[in-house]
Amino acid sequence: MSKIKGLHHVTAIATSAKRNLDFYTQVLGLRLVKKTVNFDDPETYHLYFGNEGGEPGTILTFFPWDDVDPGRRGASQATEVAFRVPKGSLEWWLQRLDERQVIYNKPAHRFDERYLVFLDPDGLKLELVEVDEERAAPFAGSEVPGEYAIRGFFGVTLTVNDAADSATLLTGVFGYEKIAQHVNRHRYASTDAVVGNIIDLVELPHEEEGVIAGGSVHHVAFRTESVESQAAIRQQLRDLGYQPTPQIDRDYFMAIYFREPQGILFEIATDPPGFTVDEPIEELGTHLKLPEQYEDDREEIEKSLQVL
Ligand code: ZN
Repeated sequence: MSKIKGLHHVTAIATSAKRNLDFYTQVLGLRLVKKTVNFDDPETYHLYFGNEGGEPGTILTFFPWDDVDPGRRGASQATEVAFRVPKGSLEWWLQRLDERQVIYNKPAHRFDERYLVFLDPDGLKLELVEVDEERAAPFAGSEVPGEYAIRGFFGVTLTVNDAADSATLLTGVFGYEKIAQHVNRHRYASTDAVVGNIIDLVELPHEEEGVIAGGSVHHVAFRTESVESQAAIRQQLRDLGYQPTPQIDRDYFMAIYFREPQGILFEIATDPPGFTVDEPIEELGTHLKLPEQYEDDREEIEKSLQVL
């Protein structure tokens, strides 16, 4: 059976591209791994932030739409995105977030971990979770010292009215295992993942559906190793009555999209070819990369994009 290997990337919606870039690279110390456009809306950037190598499981991406309304957290949404940080680093981060006037809560404990919740400039809810093992290399070019730096994703929280069918998808086709529960928070883990292995399902039966707009997660992408394993997963999904898209070429990975039982948009993305397919690793994120179909319109597209 073709298992999912945790998160590949998470894509969210921002307003100002410049403010988004500054926050994720300067405040959080992530690397701008790829600067491209939304393949379905080329007048909008698609910014990818990640670790040194731009590895799957470390990549948070944004569509900055400058005129989008603020979203609202609620049911049928990925409501929180959590990063791994080394044990003992939250005190440094508290000071960092204070200095940069970021809105945050004091550290708390959940299951076995100590974590810190804060908001990005558009209100996207983020978490830093202290972990023992540092499994993904940080971005060496960041001003955040390596001993405190973000090491890829911890996981995401999905808020749903009813967790049962979403859980069946995770433990079935995706091959996740339930590892913990506290009241209405059900924790699932991918046994095959290096980072980004956690999905928390938070069940709130009476929660109103959220609005996906500025500061919201647009979709959650999971990893698979190859085009062949992706095709096999696609077939399994179809057999269960899901309606995945055909395999779509996103230049850096192949993608299929479908809605999970509570309506959250999921993607399954292949590891190959990866972000070094069109830029060497030293130059990741330094050029505006356009998919071939838009290359002839480069001049016009560059003019229509927000100023970084
Ligand atoms: Zn995606």
